[in-house]
Amino acid sequence: MDEERKALALFRIEKAKNDLHDAKETLRLGMYDNAANRSYYAIFHAARAVLALDGLDFKKHAGVVGTFSKNYIKTGIFDPSMAKMIKSAFSIRSETDYEDFYVVSKSDVEQQVSDAGIFVSKVEEFINKKRKEHHTMKYVCDACGWEYDEALGDPDNGIAPGTKFEDLPEDFECPVCGVGKDMFSEA
Ligand SMILES: [Zn+2]
Repeated sequence: MDEERKALALFRIEKAKNDLHDAKETLRLGMYDNAANRSYYAIFHAARAVLALDGLDFKKHAGVVGTFSKNYIKTGIFDPSMAKMIKSAFSIRSETDYEDFYVVSKSDVEQQVSDAGIFVSKVEEFINKKRKEHHTMKYVCDACGWEYDEALGDPDNGIAPGTKFEDLPEDFECPVCGVGKDMFSEA
C-alpha cells in the first residue's frame, strides 16, 4: 500500500479521535448539539480514513457515507451495525444543522457518542492491521484484458478491497467477459 495513503489515513484517524474526545467533553457539559456534531465528525473522519487507504475521496458527505457502505459494509469488512451508526449520525447532523426547530435528545446524543467510540476504535484497528500487510498484486484476464487489483477488490460484485486473488471464490468470473479464475495471469 502506498505510503502517502497510509499517512493520510493515520492523519484522519487522529482527527477522528480528537473529535471523539470533544464529543465526550461537550456531552459531559450538557452541550448536546455540539456533542452530536462532534460525534458525527468522529464517525465521518474515521470513514474517510478508511477510504483514504484506497485513494478515494468525496467532497459531499453522502458520497463518503455511500461509498463506505458499499465498499466496506456490504463486502463484510465491517459489521452492518456500523452502517446504522453512520446513517443515523448523518441524519441527526442534517437535522441539527439545517432544521431550525430540531432539538436533539439527550439519549440520542449519548447513543451517538457511544457509537462514535465503537466506530473509531474499529476503524483504527483495521488501519493498523492494513499498515502491516504486504503489498497487493494485480491479475489480468487473458481473454479481455480486465484487471483485478487486489488493493481495490471488486465492490460492485461484493468483493472487498484487499481480497487476495487466491481468496476469490472458485466460481469467480471476469466481470467483463465471464471467464473463470484459471484464465487470469499476474499482471
Ligand atoms: Zn475478461
